Amino acid sequence: MKALVKTELGFGNLEIQEKNEPTPGPDQVKIEVKYAGICGSDIHTYEGHYKVGVPVTLGHEFSGVVVETGEGVTDFSVGDRVTSETTYSICGECEYCKTGDYNLCNHRKGLGTQQDGGFTNYLIARAESVHKLPDGVSFQSAAMTEPLACTHHAVSKTDIKDGDVVVVIGPGPIGLFTAQVAKSFGATVIITGLTNDQVRLNKAEELGMNYVVNTQEQDVKEVVHQLTDGYGADIVFECSGAVPAAKQGLDLLRKKGQYCQVGIFPQPDVSFDLEKIIQKEIRVVGSRSQKSADWEPSLELMNSRNVNAEAMVTHEFKITEWDEAYQAIKGGEAIKVLLTPVEQER
Ligand SMILES: [Zn+2]
Ligand SMILES: [Zn+2]
Repeated sequence: MKALVKTELGFGNLEIQEKNEPTPGPDQVKIEVKYAGICGSDIHTYEGHYKVGVPVTLGHEFSGVVVETGEGVTDFSVGDRVTSETTYSICGECEYCKTGDYNLCNHRKGLGTQQDGGFTNYLIARAESVHKLPDGVSFQSAAMTEPLACTHHAVSKTDIKDGDVVVVIGPGPIGLFTAQVAKSFGATVIITGLTNDQVRLNKAEELGMNYVVNTQEQDVKEVVHQLTDGYGADIVFECSGAVPAAKQGLDLLRKKGQYCQVGIFPQPDVSFDLEKIIQKEIRVVGSRSQKSADWEPSLELMNSRNVNAEAMVTHEFKITEWDEAYQAIKGGEAIKVLLTPVEQER
């Protein structure tokens, strides 16, 4: 089978290789991949800014069908439509593992980063990480369960409630998912972006967000103040990883507001206005990846149509067309790009 493999660290070093079909061990399942999404982190990996366990087949967001089960697997059978958490192995012993917070385990190995992932025909997942797809969730949508689960994780970090005024900064796939999840809780959602985010801002409109603001053309502070009688937003989700956006987020919040950092900053040193956090008694929280508890709710959000994942797909390519997929993402015309495996000659 053909697989898209990161062969060495550094820029590029991504090539199509011929690999043997894997065999599931005990408590594992073999999944035939239908779709696999390209994540921002795959782009960082391609460009050499993100470390993975090379050589490794990339692709940690995927959907497919169970084609073989290993010894001891009773919850799945051949033909099941599934997706899998990225968790492939954990230490199982640290305090985070014991509470199901696998995203914080220091020894966690992930599919598509340390273990061969979904940019190929078949992969092996641990049965415990696999989830069946509800009938209303297509393979395309299911390939985006992982990023959706990351945003479900972020929203769960706050005390969001019906009627809250929520600002989502950054209209990329993570921002668009966060906005939809926040809206499913009954929040009034304002999503912001810049002029070069126009495709994504249009998508936010299409997805029915309450207010879509290009901050280079409109004063978002004015919008928030009008909506809240001058108090400010209840919650800000910063999904862009841009320092000015983080500063603006603190500025938009009301006293006792909540600030959740979801986007990853390109540099670790970020100056943050701690004074504002004190004066307004703001609660600041970060959100890293996702954990098991986020997966079933995420699948249900898609099944119930509270989240429209398919609408986010702008491009589909074969794994052999990586260069075109990369150009579409870098060019700004893409929102979510899905890859499909190449058919095998038998
Ligand atoms: Zn991802
Ligand atoms: Zn652990």
